[in-house]
Amino acid sequence: MLEMMFLLLPVAASYGWYMGQKNALQKQNYPTKKINGYFSSLNYLLSHQQEHIEQALDTLNIKEDTLDIHFALGDLFRDRGELNKAIRIHQNITSLAHTHTIQHHKAMMALAKDYIASGFYDRSESLLLELIELADKTDEDREELNPEYHLLRCYQTTQEWDKGIKSFYDFSSPLQKKYNHIIAHFYCEKYLLEDEIHSKKRYLNLSIKHDKSCIRAWCYYVDVYIEEQNYIKLRQATYSILRQNPAFFVEVLPQIKTYYHTSNKLSEYEALLVRATKSGTGNTIYCELAEHWFNHQKVQQANHLIMEQLKSSPSLKAFTQLITHHVHTAEQSNAKESLIILRHIVHSYLEKQSLYQCATCDFQTSRFYWLCPSCHEWTSIQRSSGLIGE
Ligand SMILES: [Zn+2]
Repeated sequence: MLEMMFLLLPVAASYGWYMGQKNALQKQNYPTKKINGYFSSLNYLLSHQQEHIEQALDTLNIKEDTLDIHFALGDLFRDRGELNKAIRIHQNITSLAHTHTIQHHKAMMALAKDYIASGFYDRSESLLLELIELADKTDEDREELNPEYHLLRCYQTTQEWDKGIKSFYDFSSPLQKKYNHIIAHFYCEKYLLEDEIHSKKRYLNLSIKHDKSCIRAWCYYVDVYIEEQNYIKLRQATYSILRQNPAFFVEVLPQIKTYYHTSNKLSEYEALLVRATKSGTGNTIYCELAEHWFNHQKVQQANHLIMEQLKSSPSLKAFTQLITHHVHTAEQSNAKESLIILRHIVHSYLEKQSLYQCATCDFQTSRFYWLCPSCHEWTSIQRSSGLIGE
């Protein structure tokens, strides 16, 4: 698709430029030599003739009616990874566009994005801070440019959580409201870096203060209360997860299971799993409850649960669980051997699948991330649904 855009761009750019210039040419009798020079320069830029790039960039006059073409060119080069070209074009616009105009601010924003893409985070940071100062004076371009968001993303990439939090408190209150969910994650990151339990809890409290529904903070509370052996608080944190977003309950299941088993709270564990299945959790929790019943002499109940789950939401996970039940109850025979082989095949197949998927960019992965490695959105990665998932 990008390649197609790239092929069409010279045509669109040339046409746009031509149409924009047509009237002006009639009035100004624009020299033909200059037009030819413009087209040649565009061609040099869009082709891979490195030796002509400098010349091309110098020849391309940036005027008000060709500004959109230059912005489009710059953004296209950035998308294509040709960052030196993108930077040069956006630098040219910033130096030529009148300061305090939306075009100048747009060019600064585009340049800041080029720097982020190139890994020049300090340059990007200072440009964005300057832009935030400038944009304060012209409210109409703030919504479009969104420099605060990109500044937070910049600190997120460099993992400068303190700087991010500090800049957030300088934002206006509507903007703070807009980015509370991001700062909640910054506090979660500080929780991970801290060793002392009181400070860890303070960061989680701050996270929840900024975003009550920060599911990540509730998941970390589970770890804290398990460490403190605080059953009441642990149960409250677990119920919060089930209320806020039951899909994430499965991410804390292993440590919860270990805690309940080592504390010999097996009936409480069973009650929690029953409650979880009623809250809308996925196949993993149904399989866990079935396994718990199966191991505690409730074989019929366990089989019935899995059969019902397979009917309502067919999945290989529940199917494997059903085979496990049959393997345990079957007499030694060829049929039992076949079941073991079948279970092994399904299990091996599931192990090779991407069990997580980003809801924003569809990035697929076999492990869980709070921050999508592809689109850099928080809490967008969840377990896949359907036959191989939940
Ligand atoms: Zn993503």
